[in-house]
Amino acid sequence: MQSRLFAHGTFRDAGNSRKFEVRNPANGSVIAPVADGGPDDAHAAVDAAAAAFPSWRALTALERARPLRRLAELMLRDAERLADLCSQECGKPLAEARTEVAYAASFLEWFAEEGRRVYGETIPASDPAKRLMVLKRPCGVAAAITPWNFPLAMVTRKMGPALAAGCTQVVKPAEQTPLSALAIAELSVEAGLPAGVLNVVPGSGAAAIAGVFFERPEVRHVSFTGSTEVGKLLIRQSADRVVRVSLELGGHAPFIVFDDADLDAAVAGAIASKFRNAGQTCVCANRFLVQRGIHDAFVERFAAVVAALKVGDGRAPGTQVGPLIDDAGLAKAEAHVADAIAQGARAATGGRRVRVDGCADRFLEPTVLVGVTPAMRCFREETFGPVAPVCAFDREEDAVRMANDTPYGLAAYVWTRDGARIMHVSEALDYGIVGVNDALPAVAQAPFGGVKQSGLGREGGRQGIEEYLDLRYVSWRIGK
Ligand code: NAP
Repeated sequence: MQSRLFAHGTFRDAGNSRKFEVRNPANGSVIAPVADGGPDDAHAAVDAAAAAFPSWRALTALERARPLRRLAELMLRDAERLADLCSQECGKPLAEARTEVAYAASFLEWFAEEGRRVYGETIPASDPAKRLMVLKRPCGVAAAITPWNFPLAMVTRKMGPALAAGCTQVVKPAEQTPLSALAIAELSVEAGLPAGVLNVVPGSGAAAIAGVFFERPEVRHVSFTGSTEVGKLLIRQSADRVVRVSLELGGHAPFIVFDDADLDAAVAGAIASKFRNAGQTCVCANRFLVQRGIHDAFVERFAAVVAALKVGDGRAPGTQVGPLIDDAGLAKAEAHVADAIAQGARAATGGRRVRVDGCADRFLEPTVLVGVTPAMRCFREETFGPVAPVCAFDREEDAVRMANDTPYGLAAYVWTRDGARIMHVSEALDYGIVGVNDALPAVAQAPFGGVKQSGLGREGGRQGIEEYLDLRYVSWRIGK
């Protein structure tokens, strides 16, 4: 397991020789002490990325694609090892971690190909002696700041497009999950990625490392996935040097079930969307809006399946719901439950902590709350935990109004069999992603991102690579 920082193609200790401990959230055990990179290390990593940029940019897209594709293959070859590490670091069940490895590799495969389709443009000139064209050029060194909830995929979702575009990159992974990012770095050497093209600086001082990214003129793009609160800080920091930022921030996804929905499919979708990673994903359903005619039947079936979910250490066989990432995460989810109950909601199932043998006190029972109203915290804030608040509605317009009544706009879900309603509601929802009878819409080939306070820019899809490209308009006088 690699636990040292990665710059200029080599692994080394932090300049100050300090380390921080990465712990398994399920049982609190130390997985590894990791190099605690500071501002000097971030500067060294930016130096390495800046030095590698001219030769990486000069390669053809096909040449850049080779190590990216090879890295994807190596990740799949080592899928079991990477999944185990990912599960240890962030607590998600092994089955989910395996899915994440494949998802992470898919961004490298997709962007290896997309790099070959960075087409420019020619524009009809108004002067017959001129030729006008638009070139697309890699913007420079790109920085990435990634969260703990997808320790592998959030790295490759930023790395794939940046490197395919011809940028070099410095990654600052989340303090809780740097080992997965370092494992990718280790495989990148085997994949033949030239030194300095990818650099990884783990550290316990995120703000100081990010400060270096905004200070250094070579860094032309900062991509961040994490909380809306930190995203806003980064927008402010980006102002001084007018650095381009892409932000994938918090969500507050509505999951709307209409009377005509396929009940079994809606319940299965609700489980997949809500309880993945113990509810700790930005696209997890966070509010269930259920039409009155199907409300009681939905709650009864949903609560029965939720009550049977197996809670435990993500690495234990059969676990479906793992721990919360830390004490603060558990406290927030519990506070949302307590607030809802105090204001008149009822737990159809769950609501209390669960003791898991040999584990830390980090587990909450998968919970379904009924009788939820818009006044409750769980209806207004991202819970980021295994809590499903259910609220009844009467008319389609009520559901859309309630769904849009939030500053967030990342993912929304709609369950119905009515084709016209699918179009009306998909158009009316103020969200970047709409899953129609689909709880898991995210794929490498589609644009992922939010509107309103859920972010700026898109990752994935053909759009994802554009974030890393500068447009250059060339006007060429070819005659008199
Ligand atoms: P977070 O606290 O914002 O942390 C995310 C990253 O930002 C980590 O690497 C963190 O480093 C770093 N960071 C923290 N403070 C910083 C600062 N002042 N300056 C620069 N970087 C800083 O978020 P989180 O709790 O890890 O993740 C949960 C949030 O991310 C949720 O709101 C979730 O919805 C959102 N999320 C969004 C998406 C999406 O695609 N839209 C995907 C996943 C998660 P340290 O770990 O070292 O503190």
